[in-house]
Amino acid sequence: TWGQVREELIKRVGKHNYATWIEPLKLSQLKNGVARFEVPTIFFGDWVQRNYGDHIRSQLNSAGTPVDRLEFAVGAGSAPATPRVAGQGSQPARPRVPDEELPGAPLDARFTFDTFVVGKPNELAHAAARRVAEGGPVTFNPLFLYGGVGLGKTHLMHAIAHDLQARRPELRVLYLSAEQFMYRFVQALRDRQVMGFKELFRSVDVLMVDDVQFISGKDSTQEEFFHTFNALVDANKQIVISADRAPGEIKDLEDRIKSRLQCGLVVDLHPTDYELRLGILQQKVDYYRSQYRGLVLADGVLEFLAHRITTNVRVLEGALTRLFAFASLVGREITLDLAQDCLADILRSSDRKLTIEEIQRKVAEHYNVRLSDLIGPKRLRTIARPRQVAMYLAKQLTPRSLPEIGRRFGGRDHTTIMHGVRKIEELMQTDSQLADDLQLLRRLLQG
Ligand code: ADP
Ligand code: MG
Repeated sequence: TWGQVREELIKRVGKHNYATWIEPLKLSQLKNGVARFEVPTIFFGDWVQRNYGDHIRSQLNSAGTPVDRLEFAVGAGSAPATPRVAGQGSQPARPRVPDEELPGAPLDARFTFDTFVVGKPNELAHAAARRVAEGGPVTFNPLFLYGGVGLGKTHLMHAIAHDLQARRPELRVLYLSAEQFMYRFVQALRDRQVMGFKELFRSVDVLMVDDVQFISGKDSTQEEFFHTFNALVDANKQIVISADRAPGEIKDLEDRIKSRLQCGLVVDLHPTDYELRLGILQQKVDYYRSQYRGLVLADGVLEFLAHRITTNVRVLEGALTRLFAFASLVGREITLDLAQDCLADILRSSDRKLTIEEIQRKVAEHYNVRLSDLIGPKRLRTIARPRQVAMYLAKQLTPRSLPEIGRRFGGRDHTTIMHGVRKIEELMQTDSQLADDLQLLRRLLQG
């Protein structure tokens, strides 16, 4: 019966809440009107009791199991909820899609065009995604979406898939991450099913691969991806790709693949601005209001969050979720004070200033040199140039003075730092590779 009850609960509480709160519950005992569940943490149990206790009880009752009390115990065997691996394990609310056999990742029901807030930073990406979803003749292929973490790439891709499935259910739309692509491929190799793999991937009408930077440096996967890509483009099938950076900036990716990826439409999602963040919060708040009836949200709280949490939308959403959960738990109005208390850690890390050391690390990683060499005395050009780049970025991105920067570069004199900064300023006028490097590093650091 718990199985049936769970089915019912999906409808009652919504798929998202179900996956977060109900799915991890393990019914360990059911007798004498008491249903006992194993939960990962005490908080978890409290939360479920408070928010879903009535639902669970009434569903158990209507399934013919009279229950008047729910108990929650932190289970020895129950691990904390881990993110579900797509396509594996228990499959609760997975909507039926026409192509059950396609090895795609499940789509998040919340990621639709309706819930995507459009603003200056993402309007181009949004328009391009809409165009692809509308179907019709393939105008640009692939659509390549890129941008920093949490700016809505995955959301847009899912939105395209939802929309296509609604408009044209006969289309075979396959969405998966590059990591899953690799996983499937390696599995096919191991099981000697490569032909099957090839056929399957070549049989889709729309292929969407998320986070394609993942295949950099993975040679055989790249190769297979390239062939799949070409076969689909030749057959005039639409491809949508996302990555955290532009095609040309993905390291360890073959040039022929880079140029293939560039030959459609490449659009980037820019970091959010205040208006967009506020718009997103306002939209999400409507949802939370319906989930947590009766909670009062004071004026200015959303503005405060939009102003202070600038890193990425996921963090912004997380803050809102936590705020509502917390306020409902303690039964208080959501005020600025409450927000400041409850979100202290997020606010702190959002305020966090970039350190010279972080810059040095990123630069060393980017140029593939050792951090100790970057700071040390070596004069080799292959090290000296990255060092100057790091000096330049330290000057640009932190409020530190030249002598302070000098100290962090192994006690160099401030004139040496100044020389390094000038050198880079001068070179970037003519050296486009250097200019690209700087742009990328800036984005990675400020992301
Ligand atoms: P990415 O794939 O670029 O890392 P996601 O698409 O996973 O980012 O977005 C992170 C979270 O932020 C998701 O919950 C998504 O719904 C939300 N989000 C991002 N941009 C928007 C937007 N413009 N409107 C509404 N929600 C957004
Ligand atoms: Mg993503």
